[in-house]
Amino acid sequence: MATAATAATAASVAPGTQLPRHAMATETPQPSEVTTLPSGETAYAWKLMASERAHIAQMLSVDVSEITLDASYMDRERDECRTCGKYMGLDDLVHNALYGGIHGGPFILDVLQNGPRGQSPAHVVFCSRCVTKHEHARYWAVQWI
Ligand SMILES: [Zn+2]
Repeated sequence: MATAATAATAASVAPGTQLPRHAMATETPQPSEVTTLPSGETAYAWKLMASERAHIAQMLSVDVSEITLDASYMDRERDECRTCGKYMGLDDLVHNALYGGIHGGPFILDVLQNGPRGQSPAHVVFCSRCVTKHEHARYWAVQWI
């Protein structure tokens, strides 16, 4: 579990007003499958959508074939952005980390390909299309499949 302090840190390093807006068309996702991971955690499988995969590849300047994961395993269902209607995705987390100066592209790509390194802090999430701050911070599972 993340503390209020880690959430506050994430918010302070990812000011939404400084993030770029990406005018991407996106699909409406299917409801996430709720699953129990080998670690015992309950997780919502955010199955990567084609638009989400393409957006991530574009941001990381890699071929879409390098974005190999099928889904990310998150603590909650995706929320719909209350401003523009885009559903929260892994592309938003990548966008926020990259353009917020939190992680570099090579690190992010490694996590996407090889899974997260230990406990995720709370990630305050800004919509990558309109930079509205989502109400709920997100965690991802300690272990991916
Ligand atoms: Zn939005």
